[in-house]
Amino acid sequence: MKKIAFYGKGGIGKSTTAANVSAALSTAGHKVCQIGCDPKNDSTRLLLGHICKNTVLDMVRIKDEINLEDIVHYGFNGIKCVEAGGPEPGVGCAGRGIIVALEKLQELDAAADEDIILYDVLGDVVCGGFAVPIREGYATDIYIVSSGELMSLYAANNIAKGIRRFAGRGEVKLAGIIGNGRNVPNEENLLRTFAEKINTRIVAFIPRDKIVNLAEINRKTVIEWDPTSKQAQVYAALATEIFQNTQLSIPKPLSFEELEDLIAFFGIDN
Ligand code: ADP
Ligand code: MG
Repeated sequence: MKKIAFYGKGGIGKSTTAANVSAALSTAGHKVCQIGCDPKNDSTRLLLGHICKNTVLDMVRIKDEINLEDIVHYGFNGIKCVEAGGPEPGVGCAGRGIIVALEKLQELDAAADEDIILYDVLGDVVCGGFAVPIREGYATDIYIVSSGELMSLYAANNIAKGIRRFAGRGEVKLAGIIGNGRNVPNEENLLRTFAEKINTRIVAFIPRDKIVNLAEINRKTVIEWDPTSKQAQVYAALATEIFQNTQLSIPKPLSFEELEDLIAFFGIDN
């Protein structure tokens, strides 16, 4: 079983990309489970067609005995969808919630017979709770979703630091950067150079496209909404690349000054 995780800055496109990759993998005949590790609970929305209401933490709060049926929901093409959930905004610790949720999933062996399990994890790994999928060996192949914007690359670099910390001890490795375009000048070149500098590569560059938003309004992935579209083909190619990828590495993060210099070098529209 492949155990992968998507990390990246909030709002950068992790859940959208994850749902499209899951949909493409499932369409290609693989058994897929996607686990949202973000208190927003919206990782699996495009697969389920709605926001998941029964998260693992919701169930832990209201029931003494939890069964798989309480927390595993079935989305597009039979994809298993799980949301870890989180505390009410303003109370409790979201990172702690992830730990409880993932322990519960492991106890119930929620993804026992899948070909691929995809963790969609919030933000960077400053908080130990969000590092759990990396730290405890839940995921082995880590992908960072990033645009060419400074703050996105800053988060990507921090995530690389987190992966480096744990890569020495276990199986976890950096599997690549997924570029998600924001129409920044020279974005693809910038991302490619950043990836090389931190000892990895770009596994795909996903263009910014309105079809993503159109599909989202209709609560669908692009794969489901318009499988013949160019954007669907980009996601399908990424899914194949992820499934076959064996080029894993221990990242070499940059200093903040190196990151700034890189952006200054590429960031002029010429
Ligand atoms: P995250 O999970 O990283 O917080 P989301 O996947 O929720 O981010 O994406 C944030 C917003 O960006 C969504 O409204 C989504 O539709 C949009 N988006 C993501 N990728 C693209 C893209 N390639 N083209 C256009 N819009 C995109
Ligand atoms: Mg998300």
